[in-house]
Amino acid sequence: MSRVFNFSAGPATLPESVLRQAAAEMLDWHGSGMSVMEMSHRGKEFIAIHAEAESLLRELLAIPANYKVLFLQGGAIGQNAFVPMNLLRGKTSADYVNTGEWSKKSIKEAKTYCSVNVAASAEAGKFTSIPPQAEWKLDPNAAYVHICSNETIGGVEYHWTPDTGSVPLVADMSSNILSRPVDVSRYGLIYAGAQKNMGPSGLTVVIVRDDLLGNVLPVTPSVFDYKQQADNDSMLNTPPTYAIYIAGLVYQWIKQRGGLAAMEAHNRAKAAVLYDYLDASSFYSSPVARADRSLMNVPFKLKNEALDDAFLKGAQALGMLQLKGHRSVGGMRASIYNAMPIEGVQALVAYMKEFEAKNG
Ligand SMILES: *Cc1c(COP(=O)(O)O)cnc(C)c1O
Repeated sequence: MSRVFNFSAGPATLPESVLRQAAAEMLDWHGSGMSVMEMSHRGKEFIAIHAEAESLLRELLAIPANYKVLFLQGGAIGQNAFVPMNLLRGKTSADYVNTGEWSKKSIKEAKTYCSVNVAASAEAGKFTSIPPQAEWKLDPNAAYVHICSNETIGGVEYHWTPDTGSVPLVADMSSNILSRPVDVSRYGLIYAGAQKNMGPSGLTVVIVRDDLLGNVLPVTPSVFDYKQQADNDSMLNTPPTYAIYIAGLVYQWIKQRGGLAAMEAHNRAKAAVLYDYLDASSFYSSPVARADRSLMNVPFKLKNEALDDAFLKGAQALGMLQLKGHRSVGGMRASIYNAMPIEGVQALVAYMKEFEAKNG
């Protein structure tokens, strides 16, 4: 067996030890004689798996007691609709900050349910920086303020937390959740699809302050009514059981490695290997403003685009996959989530140096 370095933006690489444990437990979980996939979601085995996953996530993020943790389906894109359905609470407008492709999707979807005030946009600068809060035009009557904490495609990340006063702050953290400590109390709601930093696709985590629940738009489907799901331990319908189990193993892996402070140190060290080289090279470049560079998704360009295909082929031959940038940005993108070991980034930079020496 040989494993590649998988730089995919998502679904993305998972810790090898988690996959090994899942493999070992595949046919018989803890003497139950069943795979987790085959268990009733209401049986005592799965209830324990579910409770353990929630408790580990609460511990890792130090989630305050007045926040609910929901394990749902529908992806982060589903949340683009479910957030306004649940959080408008009688109001008619919401503020959105537009920092890239994922913010744009959130804005477009929200417009079906409310009037959207784009409080700030980085579009004029081609989404290569985060607009500073001094430039935001927030509406004090907005139901909430929505941000995307890490733009997976453009590679810009908030390294600060906006202050929205009494208006709840909502963040799509799909691609940087659990990459560093977060003060959950600064947010009204956090959501994330699991397939970047937490586990397999199919699971969406929502962390929401409990006073925001219980006043949904009448059209809201009951499985996407946060209050109903919170009252039913996220089991109003059959939850994505296997994805929850794997996410629980990933949470355990993060805890064993020292929690989120340790993750952040590891992620900073990894990203520095790549950014330092990009900055020192005239053959490659990073399009993103230094202060706003993502530690998770690193887009970069070759000066000569005609070499893009040769670069990707050479990387693939060395077992480094999924480095092609998103079509809206072009060039390359290395996604270096928690589970990417520093050896993967070092191997990538070694290859980049060699490619530059041959073609520069
Ligand atoms: C991947 C991603 C999404 C989409 O998630 P789905 O699970 O496909 O709905 C949304 N937002 C961000 C920031 C992402 O990285």
